[in-house]
Amino acid sequence: MEVIVAKSAGFCFGVDRAVKSVYDNIDDKPLYTYGPIIHNLQVVEELEDKGIKVVNDIEELLNLPKGKVIIRSHGVEEKIYNYIRDNGFSIIDATCPYVKKIHRIVNDYSKKGDTIIIIGDPNHPEVIGIKGWSSSKAIIIESIEDAKKLQLPTDEHICIVAQTTLNYLKFQEIIEIFLDKGYHVDIKDTICRATRDRQEEAIQLSGRVDKMLVIGGKHSSNTRKLYQLCKNQCDNTYHIETIEDLELLVFSKNEIIGITAGASTPKNIIQEVITHVRSTE
Ligand code: SF4
Repeated sequence: MEVIVAKSAGFCFGVDRAVKSVYDNIDDKPLYTYGPIIHNLQVVEELEDKGIKVVNDIEELLNLPKGKVIIRSHGVEEKIYNYIRDNGFSIIDATCPYVKKIHRIVNDYSKKGDTIIIIGDPNHPEVIGIKGWSSSKAIIIESIEDAKKLQLPTDEHICIVAQTTLNYLKFQEIIEIFLDKGYHVDIKDTICRATRDRQEEAIQLSGRVDKMLVIGGKHSSNTRKLYQLCKNQCDNTYHIETIEDLELLVFSKNEIIGITAGASTPKNIIQEVITHVRSTE
């Protein structure tokens, strides 16, 4: 059996930085994270055992003793910073610099009066956060159909940004639709390079293996996208969280197994999966 592990599997720079910020402040309690620090249940549970509390909204935070609040890599709306500070908590900002850059773009262009178009998942915290930095009209486009249906005055100035984990091909397709409509658009390709590299490597790898394992939280948007991209190339693609999900899967000697992982999958979980797959030989 041959096991090929994608070089880009696992924590990206932004997630690594956010998790480190928790450990750097772990002795300074009360310490909270605004939402789970990453989309990985095992890591979040481990941190909870060490006394780090996840708060899900401002109301919940206001009922807790004053302390430090870590903003995770996804970032939050501008008003959330104000609520936290105004209520006597301090902030450790672990928003990924790539996401921060989108906040700045949206803030600057919206102040000029441009309409902001965000291409991404409207329910994803990163997208909700980005929208919250706009002081003018901001519209979220999730699909090609949304882009086709949208009608705006042709003299309106538009700034387009993307969720950092968006599929690059989808971004291109949606941009084409806007250009065809003749709008005045400023296009900001804000897809993170780490995401693009990971997706491209996963597509290539899944195209040449017999089975493809994509490791990551079931709620992790970038892992779900990776799974879809791999599934398009390889029917035998499986989205797993831990080795427990591999119990029913049979690997045979002559197979080539590909492994990749989402941006919030810790190294030890990837290593456990590799060891497990190799041990079934
Ligand atoms: S995927 Fe990219 S933008 Fe998102 S946290 Fe990681 S490095 Fe930052």
